[in-house]
Amino acid sequence: MTLRVEDYTYVLEQLQTQYGFTQEHAEDAIERMSQSPDVFNGFVSYLRTGNHPNLSYSGYEISDLMLNYGLSPVGAYLMLALVAVDPNRAQGYLDELREGIMETVEYNPDGSIKKITFRTAGIGSSEAPVCPRCGKKATWVEQYKRWYCYDCKDYL
Ligand SMILES: [Zn+2]
Repeated sequence: MTLRVEDYTYVLEQLQTQYGFTQEHAEDAIERMSQSPDVFNGFVSYLRTGNHPNLSYSGYEISDLMLNYGLSPVGAYLMLALVAVDPNRAQGYLDELREGIMETVEYNPDGSIKKITFRTAGIGSSEAPVCPRCGKKATWVEQYKRWYCYDCKDYL
């Protein structure tokens, strides 16, 4: 199964215009996502229709990754692609993500729970770690909630 050129071009454009990715980051995201063609095609479908397809790997679904792990739509599709091709590595990331997520509970006056929101701990650029491979400063990728090294083209 190969990527359709029109889909590639469409997603590349959407990631830059809708999600503010740089071209380099958009190309990288497509490469990662398309390691699972079904996930990539699901993302194309989501961009075109606004509806998430029924995709499930190792018990994870797009909506679950967004709601329970605080991932953006793009981050959720990237993560699901990783779950599909490398479940152990994905599980490690998800565990880390889970630890960094803070749960905020809002209560109604009668004590019942009104709303539970999840957010990840804020990370400032001054705290940017250096890449263990090349020593350059890493970049925080909000969509994937990971530190990324543009020189090594890999996450820390
Ligand atoms: Zn590096």
